Amino acid sequence: MKSEIMGALVDPVTLEEAVGKVEQFIASGKPHHVVTLNAEILYRAQRDPELMKVILEADLVTPDGAGIVWASKRLGCPVPERVTGIDLMLALAKRAGEKGWRLFLYGAAPGVAEEAAKKLKAKNSGIRIAGTSHGYLNSGEQKQLIEKIKEAEPHILFVALGAPKQEFWINRNLEQLGVPVCMGVGGSFDVVAGKVRRAPVFMQRAGLEWLYRLIKEPRRFKRMLALPAFAVAVLIESMKQKMNKISQ
Ligand code: UDP
Repeated sequence: MKSEIMGALVDPVTLEEAVGKVEQFIASGKPHHVVTLNAEILYRAQRDPELMKVILEADLVTPDGAGIVWASKRLGCPVPERVTGIDLMLALAKRAGEKGWRLFLYGAAPGVAEEAAKKLKAKNSGIRIAGTSHGYLNSGEQKQLIEKIKEAEPHILFVALGAPKQEFWINRNLEQLGVPVCMGVGGSFDVVAGKVRRAPVFMQRAGLEWLYRLIKEPRRFKRMLALPAFAVAVLIESMKQKMNKISQ
């Protein structure tokens, strides 16, 4: 059963279980959309019905980050652990190496997707790279890209355009692409390619990855105001739940 968190349906899966689900999607051969949902995007979806619709239409929604895990507990539908975009992408790259899956990487600045693909292949030699593209294409180039992806027939398409741009793009193009697994991965290509460093492990474990990103990229401050606002919205929702229970 899915966990209902502030109107979204989140799959209560561990990282390993998420990889298992993706494996099933690939076996089915039909197109699937995987969303790793963080608190910032879920908060935004509270006031953007189109975004909420995209999230609700996804086939697998993982709890991306400490904020979602905390909210799930507060609202009485706990998810086991956080399954972030980068962790799921790396775990899938490992499985792709074992299975010989073809990967397509779309997004980030010119040269970054190629570099990330090289790094993934160096770590997981069985991976096949079906293609790469940077993420700053005009609309004509995007049409050509869709044809290129269709011809390449990857098992997984990673899209790194930032959230929620990548989720809208996947939702819009999923059926015509026909790729079994399409997943938005935000800034993960930059991290894999070595352009951006991830938070130290102790900060990741303490649920403080957001703080590290804020220190490194202060321009994110405005976006990150969504986090306390999300926490307040969750607390109000959990109070409502309790009051409803008392009045029943
Ligand atoms: N990006 C892109 N095309 C765009 C906008 C962004 O390829 O039109 C890329 C950008 O270069 C970066 C990633 O999308 O690699 C966004 O990273 P960010 O960390 O902001 O995303 P988040 O993880 O917050 O969703």
